[in-house]
Amino acid sequence: EARKRLIAGLIRDVPDFPKPGVTFKDITPLLASPNGFQAAITEIIDAAPRDIDVVVGMEARGFIFASPVALALGAGFVPVRKPGKLPGAVLSQSFELEYGSAELNLHADAIKPDARVLVVDDVLATGGTVGATAALLKQIGAELVHVSVVMELGFLGGREYLVQRGIDSSSAIL
Ligand code: IMP
Repeated sequence: EARKRLIAGLIRDVPDFPKPGVTFKDITPLLASPNGFQAAITEIIDAAPRDIDVVVGMEARGFIFASPVALALGAGFVPVRKPGKLPGAVLSQSFELEYGSAELNLHADAIKPDARVLVVDDVLATGGTVGATAALLKQIGAELVHVSVVMELGFLGGREYLVQRGIDSSSAIL
């Protein structure tokens, strides 16, 4: 529909970024458009389950979308960050990238074990980032209710990766 077309039209393909052969989905035109940014947040909120206690966003673009969603849902915002950024005691989860591995951190005391959690990010690619975030929430015992992204790169199989792990997800556009 019109809102989804507006969002899709504001995401720019950047060829050969960050390396040759990769086409990067650049969301900065979407953020720079008041109507587009609002449309993306509205799509995420419409797809989100109710009674969410905490919205988790991943560094760095996930923060941008997760924060307004948290405010709109009356939930708290909790960041998942790259190593060395969070000042308190952290839980850690490593995950595989195409070449090598990466690690994500979460403050150990940021989320209560009985919390209902919505995870929000900009782009779902292989699902590795969301998978690592889900593993962090599992370490706490919190319930990952849903994952919302602005767009998914279907050919990278992120949705299937999440389905295999029993994680419910949706994207504002395909
Ligand atoms: P995944 O872990 O392979 O699913 O990659 C998703 C993560 O990488 C998200 O946190 C995204 O912000 C980032 N990402 C991967 N591809 C793109 C892209 O084309 N545009 C913007 N972010 C991307």
